[in-house]
Amino acid sequence: MNKLQTYSLSPTILIESAKEIFTLLKKHKLTESQIFILADTQTSEHCLPLIESELPGGGRRTILLDIPSGESTKTLATAHDLYSRLMEYEADRKSLLLNVGGGMVCDLGGFVASTYKRGIQWINIPTTVLAQVDAAIGGKTGLNHHGVKNVIGTFEQPLATLVYPQFLNTLPKREVLAGFAEMIKHALIASTDLWEQMLKAPYIDLPLIKSLIGPSMVIKEEIVSRDMHETGERKKLNFGHTIGHALESYMMESPERDLLHGEAVALGIMAETYISHKKGYITESLHEQIAGFIAQHYECPPLHESNYHRILEIMKQDKKKRSSELNMTLLKGIGEAVIDRNPKMDLVIDSLTYLERYPFKG
Ligand code: NAD
Repeated sequence: MNKLQTYSLSPTILIESAKEIFTLLKKHKLTESQIFILADTQTSEHCLPLIESELPGGGRRTILLDIPSGESTKTLATAHDLYSRLMEYEADRKSLLLNVGGGMVCDLGGFVASTYKRGIQWINIPTTVLAQVDAAIGGKTGLNHHGVKNVIGTFEQPLATLVYPQFLNTLPKREVLAGFAEMIKHALIASTDLWEQMLKAPYIDLPLIKSLIGPSMVIKEEIVSRDMHETGERKKLNFGHTIGHALESYMMESPERDLLHGEAVALGIMAETYISHKKGYITESLHEQIAGFIAQHYECPPLHESNYHRILEIMKQDKKKRSSELNMTLLKGIGEAVIDRNPKMDLVIDSLTYLERYPFKG
C-alpha cells in the first residue's frame, strides 16, 4: 500500500490490489456496520466484479444501490430516491457508503452521505481518470439543478478516497483522454517534472496515464489541503475552467453538440494559455509548446463567431466571476499559476478565434 499523504482532510490512497480495500475497511473497524455501495449501470457491470470478493462476506453483506449512468442522474430527484432506499433498509448513522464510480457517482453519493441523518461516513472509490485525479478528491459534493451544474452541494470530506488504477482498463478511450486533461492542468500549474514526462512520452496511452495517476492526485490533494474552502490557492485548480466551463455549458445547450467536461477543459487550458501569453506572462515558445501538445490529442468543435457572445454570456454568469469582471487563473510558467486575473473581454474573444483557427490533429 502506498499511503501518499495524510492531512487533516481525508487521505487519498493509491492501492495496487483490490485486497487492500478489505484491509482498510478492517483497519477502520467498518466491516461490522451496514455497508451500502452506490454504483451506476456501467460501474456495477465493469468495476464491482474487480472488488466484490474483497468486500465483507464476499459482497454478500453489502447492499447495492444502483443508478443509471450519465450526468442527467446527478439530481435532487435521484438523491431523493436514494434517501428513500436508505430508509427502507433502515440505514443508521453508523452505516457506510462506498461510492464506486466516476465523478458523477462520487459527487452524488458524497452529497447523499453528507446529508442523510446529518451525515454518515463514505469512501470514494473512483473509477475514471477524471475522478481518480480530481473529482473524488477535495471534499466537494454536488448536484445539478435546473440545468445549472453543481449548484447544490456541500464541502464535506469522505473517510478516504481509494484510487485503484486497474479500474481504468474498461473505461472508454474517449473518457480516458478527457480525464487526462485534468492531469495536464495539474502538471502545468504545479509540476515541471510531470509536464516533462508527458512531453517526452512517445504515446499518451493507458499504461502511461495509469503510471501518472499517483503524482497527479497528490497535486490536487496537496493544494486542497492548504485551502479547503477555495479562498486562495485552490483557485489555481480553476486554470482552464473559466473558458472550459463556458464551452461545456454552451455545448450542452443543444442536444446535437457533444463535448465531454475534460475535452472542454483541454480547450479551456489552450485558450487561457493564449491569454497568459498575450498578457506577457509566458513566452511565445512555451505557449506554442502547450498549445501544440493539446492540439495533438484533442479537437475543437465548430464554435462559430456568431455564438461567441453566448459563450461570453455564460462565462459572465460563471460562479468564479467577481463584479463585472471575469476571474481567471493564468499561467506564469510551468508549475506557476496566478489567481484572480481579470482579462479584458476582447482578449477572451481573441482566444476563442485562436481556438477555432488552430489546426487541431486530435
Ligand atoms: P462519469 O462519472 O459520468 O463517468 C463517465 C462514464 O464512464 C459514465 O458513463 C460511467 O458510467 C462510465 N464509467 C465510469 N467508470 C468506468 C469504468 N471503469 N469502466 C467503464 N465505464 C466506466 O464522469 P466523470 O468524467 O468521471 O465525472 C464527471 C463529473 O464529475 C461531473 O458531474 C463533474 O461535475 C464532476 N466533477 C466534480 C469535481 C469535484 O471536485 N467534486 C471535480 C471535477 C468534476
